[in-house]
Amino acid sequence: MKEKNKSKKRWYAGLAGAILLLPVLWLLLVRFEGQKPEIIFELTSPYVGKSHEFSISLADPKSGLRKIWIAVVQGGKEVVLTDQDFPSAGIFRGGEIKSKLLNITFEPAKHEFSEGEAILRLALWDYSWRGWWRGNQVYVEKSLTIDTQPPEIEVISRVHNLAQGGAGLVVFRTSEDCRLAGVQVGDNFFPAHTGYFKDPRIQLAFIGLGYQQGPETEIWIEAVDDARNSTRAGIKHFIRKKAFKDDKIDISDRFLKWKVPEFENIMPPDSAGSLVDKFIKINRDLRKANYEQIKELTQTTATTSHWEGKFLRMPGSANQAGFADHRTYQYNGEIIDRQVHLGMDLASVTHAPVPAANSGVVVFSGPLGIYGNTVLIDHGLGLFSMYAHLNRSDVSKGQEVSKGDILGLTGNTGLAGGDHLHFSIVIHNTFVNPIEWWDETWINNNILSKIEEVPAAPAQK
Ligand SMILES: [Zn+2]
Repeated sequence: MKEKNKSKKRWYAGLAGAILLLPVLWLLLVRFEGQKPEIIFELTSPYVGKSHEFSISLADPKSGLRKIWIAVVQGGKEVVLTDQDFPSAGIFRGGEIKSKLLNITFEPAKHEFSEGEAILRLALWDYSWRGWWRGNQVYVEKSLTIDTQPPEIEVISRVHNLAQGGAGLVVFRTSEDCRLAGVQVGDNFFPAHTGYFKDPRIQLAFIGLGYQQGPETEIWIEAVDDARNSTRAGIKHFIRKKAFKDDKIDISDRFLKWKVPEFENIMPPDSAGSLVDKFIKINRDLRKANYEQIKELTQTTATTSHWEGKFLRMPGSANQAGFADHRTYQYNGEIIDRQVHLGMDLASVTHAPVPAANSGVVVFSGPLGIYGNTVLIDHGLGLFSMYAHLNRSDVSKGQEVSKGDILGLTGNTGLAGGDHLHFSIVIHNTFVNPIEWWDETWINNNILSKIEEVPAAPAQK
């Protein structure tokens, strides 16, 4: 009996002790928790321009946020950008705020910082009772480069004589490395490329004027440095207006019955209606979709130049249709559609061999909607040639081809009424007049002479 009482007493004492210990445990585990708060902050680039916004995410799921301190240090100088205390939810309940997104604007000139290296320092505390009630602390440092000066642009190529629907080359030098540089032609931007010349800051951009871009088109160079400071520079240019031909195309029932079924599988299933309706849909919507695909394909380009000399025109062929012919489509004497023809149609014998107009890399080979079997060649630095309506293509994507190599045979695939080659030149995303690229004198005067104007010898050639 005595023994039983003793053990009961012990048990009660243990329970009382445990009850007394609970708050101690709670204090240790909750109020004295040791988990550091978190600063989530990624600098996409260390460069800081005239005004920079840092987006900083703070979190402390256990005790809540107590205090954030952010400063920029350069040499012996320290400027505090923010020093904020966050509210407490009560002495036993930690901080009211568990997470917060801070946007801090930093304007180096306002605090008289110099250009160059600086350090961003961040310290964050939570509401834990650790460290004699100061809380858990996390400390982060990031290196910055203050650059508030926009790049300077030195235009190297002198006069730019362009034709509506034509091409050109612009050469310039930037005073510093740039994240983006190129030439704005109306609302179209042509990225420039470095690495062609020994001087890594000399940039070269092929540009193209759309057939609809006349003499009033504005052209300028734009350069943006790593700190996103940007500069514009005008270029001396003259745009020759060009009148394009009108062309009438009669769509016959024979043509519709022959061609439209070929497109049934690529047209949306809801495209009911007559053959003419279907033709119009193909001629408009599919044409547009095909252009989007070409734009996509010409976004990436080799950073070296593959081509040399004038572009080959398919031998023994006659011009059937010209660049930017304004076509009116008629059916039973009625106008059913209007489109602009963005290439040259060259006709020779049936299934004539098609040579690569210049050296490059095949970036597409296969069916391309209204263009039928198509080959697209990247000549580097944004310059492409395209071969459409082929009966057969003998090259594949990724293949390197030399000027004159046979790519396939002419045909009438896609929206072609007869055997011919549709040949296009594309610069970045713009169809330009192929005639210029078949002309040695034009290439010498408008491309090669501009490269020769560059003071240092070219690195590639
Ligand atoms: Zn054509």
